[in-house]
Amino acid sequence: MLGLMMDQPLLISDLIRHADRHHGDTEIVTKTVEDGTIHRYTYRDAHRRAKRLAKALAALGVRMNDRVATLAWNSYRHFEIYYAAAGSGAVIHTINPRLFPEQIGYIAGHAEDTVLFFDINLAPLVEKLAPLLKSVKAYVAMTGRATMPASSSTSNIPNLHCYEELIEAQDDKFEWPSFDEKTAACLCYTSGTTGNPKGALYSHRSTLLHAYAACLPDALNLSARDVILPVVPMFHVNAWGLPYSCALTGAKLVFPAQHLDGKSLHTLFEQEGVTMSAGVPTVWLGLLNYMKEQKLKFSTLKGVVIGGSAAPPAMIRTFQEEYGVQVLHAWGMTEMSPLGTVCTFKAKHAKASKEERYALQNKVGRVIFGVDTRIVDENDKELPHDGKAFGDLQVRGPWIVNGYFKGEGGDPLKKDAAGASWFPTGDVVTIDPDGYVQITDRSKDVIKSGGEWISSIDLENVAVAHPAVQEAAVIGIRHPKWDERPILVVVKKAGQEVSKADLLKFYEGKIAKWWMPEDVVFVAELPHTATGKLSKLTLRQQMKDYKLPG
Ligand code: ADP
Repeated sequence: MLGLMMDQPLLISDLIRHADRHHGDTEIVTKTVEDGTIHRYTYRDAHRRAKRLAKALAALGVRMNDRVATLAWNSYRHFEIYYAAAGSGAVIHTINPRLFPEQIGYIAGHAEDTVLFFDINLAPLVEKLAPLLKSVKAYVAMTGRATMPASSSTSNIPNLHCYEELIEAQDDKFEWPSFDEKTAACLCYTSGTTGNPKGALYSHRSTLLHAYAACLPDALNLSARDVILPVVPMFHVNAWGLPYSCALTGAKLVFPAQHLDGKSLHTLFEQEGVTMSAGVPTVWLGLLNYMKEQKLKFSTLKGVVIGGSAAPPAMIRTFQEEYGVQVLHAWGMTEMSPLGTVCTFKAKHAKASKEERYALQNKVGRVIFGVDTRIVDENDKELPHDGKAFGDLQVRGPWIVNGYFKGEGGDPLKKDAAGASWFPTGDVVTIDPDGYVQITDRSKDVIKSGGEWISSIDLENVAVAHPAVQEAAVIGIRHPKWDERPILVVVKKAGQEVSKADLLKFYEGKIAKWWMPEDVVFVAELPHTATGKLSKLTLRQQMKDYKLPG
């Protein structure tokens, strides 16, 4: 017998319709791409313009399931495209402009993008890309007529349109279509450190379930009283779903576009009364350094989500102790829409000591309902959740991929003894009896010494707590006796000095003796991926001729 409940599909267009109807006068603020001035409007305005844009997309020939690509920063126009494209049944494909042009060419070709929207400061990139993008039939510069890129720099870009003209040519008499909630809505490619980039194709249903879950108090804790500034780009797993979750709750949104330097961010936080933000550790490093130099404080910020790579313990302390901002350490991946775990306390931790609470915050927290986890050893045997056994983390749930776009890379899933399918995350973790997950390493970055594993993340966390260290990476180097030994690669803070001996001494008492790095190498900078993570693959290549001392 079926329940007698309305069978209403979960559609992305319902989010913006809801935000218009119930939070119509709540603001969406953007520091604009064009000249950094502030653009201010409301969810009601955004909804009207998204409807006009949906009509414009249809006029450009975009049909159900067609891929609509963006090369764009976080802005109100990007927000409108999110809703116009997915809401009308097309698929929004957000592309990371920091990728190499050949990678973008590959991704856009694989996705068969039909229209490409771009921010005008990326026009030179699009100029270079256009000959590679065979499937793209129309280009849209995300600006008004007066600020269209000069024709001299766009002569290569065929069928170029002006965003504001497209919007002006339409009216907002439009009803969002209804269709199956399992319809594809958004496409994001993983950065593909091995093999070709692979597309995670989210559905309307998965996006809505993820949006609900993200708002929960023990997830990102979002409400209509919040002012959210997503520092994480809208091309990095949909800014971790914030453009959807904010519409769902009616939170005010603040978009920084490409202005991610410490000064711009701090000014925007203060001017707009931002209560909550989210980003990868590298951006926070920039902001915190600037604030320290300028002796600034936050007056409204209550919380920051740090995810994408391990939040250094020293950064968690700085936010909480010097600035009174609660850190939410989060873990996820492109294949998981992306949220998997968030670190918040349980009632029993109220009695824990300050140091115990900090130790807990170095973990990435507990799963959000909807994500199920297990850890397995190399023989696929399930390991206990005792906080000690570590193995490969596998996940399942309604916002986790069951394959990649066009079957790229084959079937990624593994089956357990009962026949249930799991997605292997490639992360090596422990899970404690309270469910808190600790990431030890990416499986491909794990250091194996004398048959035992050494966590590169733990070693990096100690190094970045040293006052003279800006950034640190630990990689394994071949060793004749121990198989591999860790070495520490360090970028010093500007104007600071520290020696190899000082750094190694700093480790004493903080780690097991046999974890001690064999050497310290000082470098001017470390390589990063297009999403701002340390690229250990590149670092290992750069260090391929390195020899251990002795
Ligand atoms: P990519 O940037 O490679 O496309 P993702 O953005 O999906 O991939 O990255 C997912 C990976 O990032 C995770 O599998 C994990 O290794 C790492 N990661 C994400 N958050 C954290 C965290 N809080 N601590 C440690 N590692 C993390």
